[in-house]
Amino acid sequence: MAKFCGKCGNKLKNENAKFCDKCGSKISNATRSTNTTVNTPINNAPIYKEKSMPLALILSFLLPGIGIVYAGDVAKGLAVFIGLVVINFLLNTLLKSPITPILSIALIICSLYLTYEEVNAVNEKNRKLMRNQF
Ligand SMILES: [Zn+2]
Repeated sequence: MAKFCGKCGNKLKNENAKFCDKCGSKISNATRSTNTTVNTPINNAPIYKEKSMPLALILSFLLPGIGIVYAGDVAKGLAVFIGLVVINFLLNTLLKSPITPILSIALIICSLYLTYEEVNAVNEKNRKLMRNQF
């Protein structure tokens, strides 16, 4: 069975060698003796941070659509924000009725749903990108 340096992953020519002939580090008895996995340093691939669903939902709850901006789609988020603010304004000025608050709540729920979809889509896309890198 071939021996590998535990530090750099170099395959040792001499199985009884006390030191690695590549990096010079001492070979311990605990050295892995598998030839399938070689220790490769983690490359400098960009790390995709998962978007936080709770944070996105809180943002969209406070300011409709802003959670979508946080998720990465600025244009869509602002469109939802402006759209909902305008609709809400129209509802409260033109359609003064007892159901207006219910419609406003429905709009907030709508914005939260769009935010939820957006965060899921962005996280799924990033996970796919991550998988393709390795
Ligand atoms: Zn070595």
